[in-house]
Amino acid sequence: MKKYGMIIDLKRCVGCHACTISCKMENEIPEGCFNTWVEEWDTGKYPNVSRVKLPKMCNHCVDAPCIEACPVDATFAVEGGIVVVDEEKCIGCGACVSACPYDARYMNSATNKAGKCTFCIQRAEAGMMPACVSTCISHARFFGDLNDPDSEVSKLMAENKTEGLKEELGLELNVKYIGLKDALKNGEPEERYRGGK
Ligand code: SF4
Ligand code: SF4
Repeated sequence: MKKYGMIIDLKRCVGCHACTISCKMENEIPEGCFNTWVEEWDTGKYPNVSRVKLPKMCNHCVDAPCIEACPVDATFAVEGGIVVVDEEKCIGCGACVSACPYDARYMNSATNKAGKCTFCIQRAEAGMMPACVSTCISHARFFGDLNDPDSEVSKLMAENKTEGLKEELGLELNVKYIGLKDALKNGEPEERYRGGK
């Protein structure tokens, strides 16, 4: 059985936001809504300063609070562990948006239904990479089957220390980062660029 996952290498990300734009185009995401975005801030003390670029998105949690929160079972995981929303069933109550600890959902201003990253399921089903992965100019994003030991993502997991955001919540995330500990060594400041959100 497949288990889709994404690895984001923070040492490679240059903060160009091409992933954000290509995602919006591929998935027809309206203004003010984001399936993926890149947060940025400066860290360190002069002269030892650097800029953190941290792409974020739905983590496709195995124990997803958004699924638990939905009163009409409109959101669920499909084959491969991709968490999706059935727009026919969604009543637009926003419970899932409030339940997500990653701010990864929104109410779609065009449809009044819940929206989120789907790992570009329409592309995955056609054997294509998600738009953000295909567009990334520095090859910082990787996508594939975590249950296939020969996949690029599995090899990256085996060869690198990978971590997820807020792992203390224990939600079993399918989005992991290389270099996250270093990026967050001084924490995430409240004042930061939130990728247009
Ligand atoms: S990151 Fe948020 S929207 Fe995505 S599966 Fe987890 S709880 Fe749901
Ligand atoms: S907005 Fe839709 S998907 Fe979210 S909790 Fe309400 S019915 Fe479920």
